[in-house]
Amino acid sequence: MADHDTTTLIHHPYRPPAGFEAPQVGVHKASTVVFRDVAAMRARDWQHKDGYTYGLHGTPTTFTLEARIAHLEHGRHTLLAPSGLAAIALVDLALLGQGDELLIPSNAYGPGKSLARQQLARYGVGHRLYDPMDPQSLADTIGPATRLVWLEAPGSVTMEFPDLRALLAVARERGVTTALDNTWGAGIAFDGFDLGDGLGADIVMQALTKFPSGGGDVLMGSVTTRDDALHLKLKMAHMDLGLGVGANDAEAVLRSLPSIALRYHAHDRSARALAAWLQARPEIARVLHPALEGSPGHAHWRATCSAAAGLFSVVFDARHTPAQVDAFVDALRLFRIGYSWGGPVSLVVPYDLGSMRNPVPYQGTLVRFSIGLEAEADLRDDLAQALARLD
Ligand SMILES: *Cc1c(COP(=O)(O)O)cnc(C)c1O
Repeated sequence: MADHDTTTLIHHPYRPPAGFEAPQVGVHKASTVVFRDVAAMRARDWQHKDGYTYGLHGTPTTFTLEARIAHLEHGRHTLLAPSGLAAIALVDLALLGQGDELLIPSNAYGPGKSLARQQLARYGVGHRLYDPMDPQSLADTIGPATRLVWLEAPGSVTMEFPDLRALLAVARERGVTTALDNTWGAGIAFDGFDLGDGLGADIVMQALTKFPSGGGDVLMGSVTTRDDALHLKLKMAHMDLGLGVGANDAEAVLRSLPSIALRYHAHDRSARALAAWLQARPEIARVLHPALEGSPGHAHWRATCSAAAGLFSVVFDARHTPAQVDAFVDALRLFRIGYSWGGPVSLVVPYDLGSMRNPVPYQGTLVRFSIGLEAEADLRDDLAQALARLD
Protein backbone atom coordinates (compact mmCIF):
# COMPACT_ATOMS: atom_id res chain seq x y z
CA MET A 1 0.00 0.00 0.00
CA ALA A 2 1.46 3.34 -1.05
CA ASP A 3 1.56 6.23 1.45
CA HIS A 4 -0.74 8.37 -0.70
CA ASP A 5 -3.42 5.67 -0.33
CA THR A 6 -3.69 6.60 3.33
CA THR A 7 -4.12 10.24 2.37
CA THR A 8 -6.87 9.31 -0.05
CA LEU A 9 -8.59 7.22 2.62
CA ILE A 10 -8.84 10.37 4.73
CA HIS A 11 -9.61 12.86 1.95
CA HIS A 12 -11.82 10.65 -0.18
CA PRO A 13 -14.60 12.82 -1.65
CA TYR A 14 -17.45 13.22 0.76
CA ARG A 15 -19.91 16.07 0.61
CA PRO A 16 -21.24 17.13 3.99
CA PRO A 17 -24.71 18.67 4.15
CA ALA A 18 -24.66 22.28 2.94
CA GLY A 19 -23.43 24.65 5.62
CA PHE A 20 -21.83 21.88 7.72
CA GLU A 21 -18.27 21.73 6.47
CA ALA A 22 -16.87 18.86 8.57
CA PRO A 23 -14.75 16.12 6.96
CA GLN A 24 -16.15 13.44 9.30
CA VAL A 25 -19.00 11.39 7.85
CA GLY A 26 -22.34 11.57 9.64
CA VAL A 27 -24.47 8.64 10.77
CA HIS A 28 -27.44 8.62 8.43
CA LYS A 29 -30.14 6.27 9.66
CA ALA A 30 -33.26 5.47 7.72
CA SER A 31 -35.38 2.66 6.45
CA THR A 32 -37.63 4.95 4.45
CA VAL A 33 -36.30 7.54 2.05
CA VAL A 34 -39.10 9.86 0.90
CA PHE A 35 -39.57 11.15 -2.64
CA ARG A 36 -40.74 14.55 -3.82
CA ASP A 37 -43.49 13.02 -5.95
CA VAL A 38 -44.47 9.76 -7.63
CA ALA A 39 -42.54 10.56 -10.79
CA ALA A 40 -39.37 11.08 -8.72
CA MET A 41 -39.99 7.76 -6.97
CA ARG A 42 -40.43 5.90 -10.25
CA ALA A 43 -37.36 7.53 -11.77
CA ARG A 44 -35.04 6.54 -8.92
CA ASP A 45 -33.02 3.38 -9.64
CA TRP A 46 -31.63 1.48 -6.63
CA GLN A 47 -28.89 -0.05 -8.77
CA HIS A 48 -27.15 3.27 -9.25
CA LYS A 49 -25.57 5.40 -6.61
CA ASP A 50 -26.77 8.74 -7.93
CA GLY A 51 -29.66 8.67 -5.48
CA TYR A 52 -31.22 6.90 -2.51
CA THR A 53 -34.27 4.62 -2.61
CA TYR A 54 -34.48 2.69 0.66
CA GLY A 55 -32.24 2.24 3.73
CA LEU A 56 -31.36 -1.32 2.75
CA HIS A 57 -30.01 -0.10 -0.60
CA GLY A 58 -27.65 2.40 0.97
CA THR A 59 -27.34 5.66 2.86
CA PRO A 60 -24.76 8.46 2.64
CA THR A 61 -22.86 6.68 5.45
CA THR A 62 -22.72 3.27 3.75
CA PHE A 63 -22.09 4.68 0.27
CA THR A 64 -19.08 6.55 1.66
CA LEU A 65 -17.76 3.44 3.39
CA GLU A 66 -18.24 1.43 0.19
CA ALA A 67 -16.29 4.02 -1.79
CA ARG A 68 -13.44 4.02 0.73
CA ILE A 69 -13.18 0.22 0.93
CA ALA A 70 -13.18 0.11 -2.89
CA HIS A 71 -10.26 2.54 -2.74
CA LEU A 72 -8.44 0.53 -0.07
CA GLU A 73 -8.70 -2.63 -2.21
CA HIS A 74 -7.94 -0.78 -5.47
CA GLY A 75 -11.28 -1.93 -6.84
CA ARG A 76 -14.24 -0.05 -8.32
CA HIS A 77 -17.35 -1.34 -6.53
CA THR A 78 -17.89 -2.53 -2.96
CA LEU A 79 -20.87 -4.19 -1.28
CA LEU A 80 -21.14 -4.34 2.51
CA ALA A 81 -22.38 -7.42 4.37
CA PRO A 82 -23.21 -7.88 8.08
CA SER A 83 -20.08 -10.00 8.72
CA GLY A 84 -17.07 -11.40 6.90
CA LEU A 85 -18.78 -14.75 6.74
CA ALA A 86 -21.91 -13.16 5.26
CA ALA A 87 -19.66 -11.62 2.58
CA ILE A 88 -18.33 -15.10 1.74
CA ALA A 89 -21.91 -16.42 1.62
CA LEU A 90 -22.93 -13.55 -0.65
CA VAL A 91 -20.22 -14.43 -3.17
CA ASP A 92 -21.12 -18.14 -3.09
CA LEU A 93 -24.88 -17.59 -3.40
CA ALA A 94 -24.53 -14.98 -6.15
CA LEU A 95 -22.30 -17.09 -8.37
CA LEU A 96 -23.26 -20.71 -7.77
CA GLY A 97 -26.30 -22.75 -8.71
CA GLN A 98 -27.47 -26.33 -8.90
CA GLY A 99 -24.85 -28.58 -10.46
CA ASP A 100 -22.03 -26.06 -10.02
CA GLU A 101 -18.89 -26.74 -8.08
CA LEU A 102 -16.82 -24.55 -5.80
CA LEU A 103 -13.14 -25.02 -4.90
CA ILE A 104 -11.77 -23.99 -1.52
CA PRO A 105 -8.17 -24.09 -0.24
CA SER A 106 -7.72 -26.91 2.30
CA ASN A 107 -6.33 -24.41 4.87
CA ALA A 108 -9.12 -21.83 4.35
CA TYR A 109 -11.15 -20.06 7.03
CA GLY A 110 -13.18 -22.94 8.55
CA PRO A 111 -16.72 -21.47 8.52
CA GLY A 112 -16.42 -20.90 4.74
CA LYS A 113 -15.87 -24.64 4.33
CA SER A 114 -18.75 -25.41 6.67
CA LEU A 115 -21.03 -23.14 4.61
CA ALA A 116 -20.22 -25.21 1.51
CA ARG A 117 -20.59 -28.53 3.34
CA GLN A 118 -23.78 -27.82 5.26
CA GLN A 119 -25.72 -25.26 3.24
CA LEU A 120 -24.58 -25.10 -0.39
CA ALA A 121 -24.74 -28.90 -0.65
CA ARG A 122 -28.49 -28.71 0.07
CA TYR A 123 -28.92 -26.58 -3.05
CA GLY A 124 -27.01 -29.00 -5.26
CA VAL A 125 -23.74 -27.05 -5.20
CA GLY A 126 -20.70 -29.29 -4.81
CA HIS A 127 -17.35 -28.32 -3.39
CA ARG A 128 -13.85 -29.73 -3.27
CA LEU A 129 -10.74 -28.75 -1.40
CA TYR A 130 -7.38 -28.15 -3.10
CA ASP A 131 -3.87 -27.81 -1.73
CA PRO A 132 -3.08 -24.10 -2.10
CA MET A 133 0.66 -24.76 -1.78
CA ASP A 134 0.59 -26.82 -4.98
CA PRO A 135 -0.82 -25.04 -8.07
CA GLN A 136 -0.93 -28.41 -9.84
CA SER A 137 -3.41 -29.54 -7.17
CA LEU A 138 -5.71 -26.70 -8.22
CA ALA A 139 -5.24 -27.56 -11.90
CA ASP A 140 -6.13 -31.20 -11.14
CA THR A 141 -9.18 -30.26 -9.05
CA ILE A 142 -10.81 -27.84 -11.51
CA GLY A 143 -13.51 -29.70 -13.41
CA PRO A 144 -16.11 -28.81 -16.04
CA ALA A 145 -18.61 -27.80 -13.30
CA THR A 146 -16.18 -25.53 -11.41
CA ARG A 147 -17.57 -21.98 -11.36
CA LEU A 148 -15.67 -20.38 -8.48
CA VAL A 149 -12.25 -20.75 -6.86
CA TRP A 150 -11.63 -19.22 -3.45
CA LEU A 151 -8.12 -18.07 -2.54
CA GLU A 152 -6.80 -17.08 0.87
CA ALA A 153 -3.35 -15.82 1.82
CA PRO A 154 -2.01 -16.96 4.15
CA GLY A 155 -4.06 -19.97 5.23
CA SER A 156 -6.14 -19.58 8.37
CA VAL A 157 -4.39 -20.82 11.52
CA THR A 158 -1.55 -22.69 9.75
CA MET A 159 -0.38 -19.54 7.94
CA GLU A 160 1.08 -21.06 4.73
CA PHE A 161 1.50 -18.34 2.10
CA PRO A 162 0.58 -19.66 -1.36
CA ASP A 163 1.90 -18.65 -4.78
CA LEU A 164 -1.18 -16.54 -5.56
CA ARG A 165 0.00 -15.68 -9.05
CA ALA A 166 0.43 -19.33 -10.00
CA LEU A 167 -3.04 -20.17 -8.60
CA LEU A 168 -4.63 -17.21 -10.42
CA ALA A 169 -2.90 -18.22 -13.65
CA VAL A 170 -4.38 -21.74 -13.38
CA ALA A 171 -7.89 -20.38 -12.76
CA ARG A 172 -7.60 -17.87 -15.58
CA GLU A 173 -6.40 -20.49 -18.04
CA ARG A 174 -9.51 -22.53 -17.20
CA GLY A 175 -11.78 -19.50 -17.31
CA VAL A 176 -12.98 -19.82 -13.70
CA THR A 177 -13.93 -16.81 -11.54
CA THR A 178 -11.66 -16.22 -8.53
CA ALA A 179 -12.51 -14.74 -5.13
CA LEU A 180 -9.77 -13.80 -2.67
CA ASP A 181 -10.33 -13.62 1.09
CA ASN A 182 -8.09 -10.60 1.71
CA THR A 183 -8.76 -10.23 5.44
CA TRP A 184 -5.13 -10.85 6.41
CA GLY A 185 -3.68 -8.48 3.78
CA ALA A 186 -6.40 -5.90 4.50
CA GLY A 187 -5.60 -4.04 1.27
CA ILE A 188 -2.26 -3.05 2.79
CA ALA A 189 0.14 -6.00 2.48
CA PHE A 190 -0.58 -6.53 -1.24
CA ASP A 191 -3.07 -5.59 -3.95
CA GLY A 192 -5.55 -8.43 -4.46
CA PHE A 193 -6.54 -7.14 -7.90
CA ASP A 194 -3.00 -6.70 -9.18
CA LEU A 195 -0.35 -9.25 -8.24
CA GLY A 196 1.76 -8.54 -11.32
CA ASP A 197 1.79 -10.03 -14.82
CA GLY A 198 -1.80 -8.81 -15.20
CA LEU A 199 -2.96 -11.39 -12.65
CA GLY A 200 -5.46 -10.52 -9.93
CA ALA A 201 -8.58 -11.89 -8.29
CA ASP A 202 -11.97 -11.10 -9.84
CA ILE A 203 -13.49 -10.56 -6.40
CA VAL A 204 -11.71 -9.36 -3.26
CA MET A 205 -13.54 -10.02 -0.02
CA GLN A 206 -12.53 -8.78 3.41
CA ALA A 207 -13.77 -9.21 6.96
CA LEU A 208 -13.93 -5.53 7.93
CA THR A 209 -14.38 -6.95 11.44
CA LYS A 210 -10.61 -7.24 11.63
CA PHE A 211 -8.23 -4.41 10.60
CA PRO A 212 -10.63 -1.85 9.02
CA SER A 213 -12.70 -1.83 12.23
CA GLY A 214 -9.64 -2.24 14.40
CA GLY A 215 -11.69 -1.92 17.56
CA GLY A 216 -12.95 -5.43 18.12
CA ASP A 217 -16.45 -3.97 18.32
CA VAL A 218 -17.90 -4.28 14.80
CA LEU A 219 -18.86 -7.23 12.60
CA MET A 220 -18.87 -6.43 8.87
CA GLY A 221 -17.68 -7.77 5.54
CA SER A 222 -17.00 -6.36 2.10
CA VAL A 223 -17.10 -7.70 -1.45
CA THR A 224 -15.15 -5.61 -3.95
CA THR A 225 -14.90 -5.94 -7.72
CA ARG A 226 -13.51 -4.09 -10.71
CA ASP A 227 -15.85 -5.56 -13.30
CA ASP A 228 -19.24 -3.84 -13.72
CA ALA A 229 -21.19 -6.95 -14.79
CA LEU A 230 -19.77 -9.07 -11.96
CA HIS A 231 -20.62 -6.32 -9.48
CA LEU A 232 -24.20 -6.15 -10.75
CA LYS A 233 -24.62 -9.91 -10.34
CA LEU A 234 -23.37 -9.68 -6.74
CA LYS A 235 -25.51 -6.61 -6.11
CA MET A 236 -28.66 -8.43 -7.27
CA ALA A 237 -27.96 -11.28 -4.83
CA HIS A 238 -27.13 -8.74 -2.09
CA MET A 239 -30.52 -7.11 -2.69
CA ASP A 240 -32.46 -10.40 -2.91
CA LEU A 241 -30.90 -11.68 0.31
CA GLY A 242 -31.75 -8.48 2.17
CA LEU A 243 -28.21 -7.89 3.36
CA GLY A 244 -27.50 -4.57 5.01
CA VAL A 245 -25.31 -3.04 7.69
CA GLY A 246 -26.19 -0.66 10.51
CA ALA A 247 -25.26 3.00 10.09
CA ASN A 248 -23.57 3.16 13.49
CA ASP A 249 -21.37 0.22 12.57
CA ALA A 250 -20.53 1.72 9.17
CA GLU A 251 -19.57 4.98 10.88
CA ALA A 252 -17.38 3.09 13.39
CA VAL A 253 -15.42 1.55 10.50
CA LEU A 254 -15.18 4.95 8.75
CA ARG A 255 -13.77 6.39 11.93
CA SER A 256 -11.07 3.70 12.17
CA LEU A 257 -10.08 3.59 8.50
CA PRO A 258 -7.73 6.61 8.47
CA SER A 259 -5.44 4.85 10.97
CA ILE A 260 -5.54 1.40 9.35
CA ALA A 261 -2.04 1.58 7.84
CA LEU A 262 -0.47 2.85 11.08
CA ARG A 263 -2.19 0.15 13.11
CA TYR A 264 -1.39 -2.61 10.60
CA HIS A 265 2.32 -1.78 10.63
CA ALA A 266 2.36 -1.53 14.44
CA HIS A 267 0.74 -5.00 14.75
CA ASP A 268 3.25 -6.25 12.16
CA ARG A 269 6.33 -4.92 13.99
CA SER A 270 5.37 -6.42 17.36
CA ALA A 271 4.25 -9.73 15.85
CA ARG A 272 7.49 -10.22 13.94
CA ALA A 273 9.59 -9.43 17.00
CA LEU A 274 7.59 -11.78 19.24
CA ALA A 275 7.53 -14.53 16.60
CA ALA A 276 11.33 -14.35 16.28
CA TRP A 277 11.67 -14.42 20.08
CA LEU A 278 9.42 -17.48 20.34
CA GLN A 279 11.33 -19.23 17.56
CA ALA A 280 14.41 -19.23 19.80
CA ARG A 281 12.55 -20.80 22.75
CA PRO A 282 13.14 -24.52 23.42
CA GLU A 283 9.43 -25.16 24.15
CA ILE A 284 8.47 -24.18 20.60
CA ALA A 285 9.07 -26.57 17.69
CA ARG A 286 7.90 -24.21 14.92
CA VAL A 287 6.74 -20.67 14.44
CA LEU A 288 4.35 -20.20 11.51
CA HIS A 289 4.58 -16.58 10.35
CA PRO A 290 4.89 -15.97 6.60
CA ALA A 291 7.43 -13.14 7.06
CA LEU A 292 9.73 -15.44 9.04
CA GLU A 293 12.48 -17.30 7.20
CA GLY A 294 11.66 -21.01 7.09
CA SER A 295 7.90 -20.53 7.44
CA PRO A 296 5.83 -22.31 4.76
CA GLY A 297 5.50 -20.08 1.70
CA HIS A 298 7.94 -17.46 3.02
CA ALA A 299 9.39 -16.98 -0.49
CA HIS A 300 5.88 -16.31 -1.88
CA TRP A 301 5.20 -13.84 0.92
CA ARG A 302 8.47 -12.06 0.11
CA ALA A 303 7.61 -11.91 -3.60
CA THR A 304 4.06 -10.67 -2.96
CA CYS A 305 3.88 -8.55 0.19
CA SER A 306 5.27 -5.33 1.59
CA ALA A 307 4.00 -6.05 5.12
CA ALA A 308 2.41 -8.73 7.30
CA ALA A 309 -0.53 -8.79 9.70
CA GLY A 310 -0.01 -9.18 13.44
CA LEU A 311 -0.86 -12.85 13.36
CA PHE A 312 1.13 -16.04 13.80
CA SER A 313 0.89 -19.57 15.16
CA VAL A 314 3.35 -21.69 17.09
CA VAL A 315 3.59 -25.46 17.30
CA PHE A 316 4.71 -26.63 20.72
CA ASP A 317 7.36 -29.31 21.01
CA ALA A 318 5.54 -32.67 21.12
CA ARG A 319 6.88 -33.36 24.63
CA HIS A 320 4.35 -30.80 25.91
CA THR A 321 0.93 -32.42 26.18
CA PRO A 322 -2.21 -30.62 24.93
CA ALA A 323 -3.26 -30.20 28.58
CA GLN A 324 0.07 -28.50 29.39
CA VAL A 325 -0.35 -26.18 26.43
CA ASP A 326 -3.88 -25.35 27.60
CA ALA A 327 -2.39 -24.49 31.01
CA PHE A 328 0.16 -22.22 29.27
CA VAL A 329 -2.70 -20.42 27.51
CA ASP A 330 -4.62 -20.13 30.80
CA ALA A 331 -1.52 -18.67 32.49
CA LEU A 332 -1.28 -15.76 30.03
CA ARG A 333 -2.52 -12.50 31.53
CA LEU A 334 -2.36 -9.84 28.81
CA PHE A 335 -3.24 -12.24 26.00
CA ARG A 336 -6.95 -12.90 26.27
CA ILE A 337 -8.50 -16.15 25.08
CA GLY A 338 -10.75 -15.41 22.14
CA TYR A 339 -11.34 -15.62 18.39
CA SER A 340 -10.83 -12.88 15.84
CA TRP A 341 -7.96 -10.44 15.40
CA GLY A 342 -7.07 -6.93 14.28
CA GLY A 343 -8.12 -5.20 17.49
CA PRO A 344 -6.10 -3.55 20.26
CA VAL A 345 -6.24 -6.54 22.63
CA SER A 346 -3.81 -9.43 22.04
CA LEU A 347 -5.63 -12.73 21.65
CA VAL A 348 -4.70 -16.38 21.85
CA VAL A 349 -6.45 -19.60 20.79
CA PRO A 350 -5.18 -23.19 21.04
CA TYR A 351 -6.31 -25.25 18.03
CA ASP A 352 -6.79 -28.98 17.66
CA LEU A 353 -5.43 -29.45 14.14
CA GLY A 354 -6.63 -33.06 14.12
CA SER A 355 -10.24 -31.88 13.94
CA MET A 356 -9.51 -29.22 11.30
CA ARG A 357 -7.25 -30.74 8.70
CA ASN A 358 -6.73 -34.08 7.04
CA PRO A 359 -3.90 -34.97 6.84
CA VAL A 360 -2.71 -33.19 9.99
CA PRO A 361 0.18 -30.94 8.89
CA TYR A 362 2.07 -30.74 12.22
CA GLN A 363 2.66 -32.92 15.27
CA GLY A 364 2.35 -31.02 18.52
CA THR A 365 -0.26 -28.58 19.77
CA LEU A 366 -0.79 -25.38 17.78
CA VAL A 367 -1.51 -22.03 19.39
CA ARG A 368 -2.43 -18.96 17.39
CA PHE A 369 -1.58 -15.46 18.57
CA SER A 370 -3.10 -12.22 17.41
CA ILE A 371 -0.79 -9.42 18.48
CA GLY A 372 -2.64 -6.32 19.60
CA LEU A 373 -1.36 -2.84 20.33
CA GLU A 374 0.04 -3.37 23.82
CA ALA A 375 3.76 -2.65 24.44
CA GLU A 376 5.79 -5.42 22.86
CA ALA A 377 8.00 -5.82 25.96
CA ASP A 378 4.92 -6.39 28.14
CA LEU A 379 3.64 -9.06 25.77
CA ARG A 380 7.06 -10.76 25.76
CA ASP A 381 7.14 -10.75 29.57
CA ASP A 382 3.68 -12.28 29.60
CA LEU A 383 4.74 -15.06 27.21
CA ALA A 384 7.90 -15.68 29.26
CA GLN A 385 6.06 -16.03 32.58
CA ALA A 386 3.52 -18.44 31.05
CA LEU A 387 6.26 -20.50 29.33
CA ALA A 388 8.15 -20.73 32.61
CA ARG A 389 5.22 -22.67 34.07
CA LEU A 390 5.45 -25.32 31.36
CA ASP A 391 8.64 -26.93 32.57
C1 LIG B 1 -12.69 -13.37 10.63
C2 LIG B 1 -12.55 -13.88 9.25
C3 LIG B 1 -13.65 -14.05 8.42
C4 LIG B 1 -15.07 -13.82 8.88
O1 LIG B 1 -15.30 -12.58 9.42
P1 LIG B 1 -16.51 -12.37 10.48
O2 LIG B 1 -16.80 -10.92 10.37
O3 LIG B 1 -15.99 -12.79 11.80
O4 LIG B 1 -17.65 -13.22 10.00
C5 LIG B 1 -13.43 -14.50 7.15
N1 LIG B 1 -12.19 -14.77 6.70
C6 LIG B 1 -11.11 -14.64 7.47
C7 LIG B 1 -9.76 -14.96 6.92
C8 LIG B 1 -11.25 -14.18 8.77
O5 LIG B 1 -10.17 -14.07 9.55
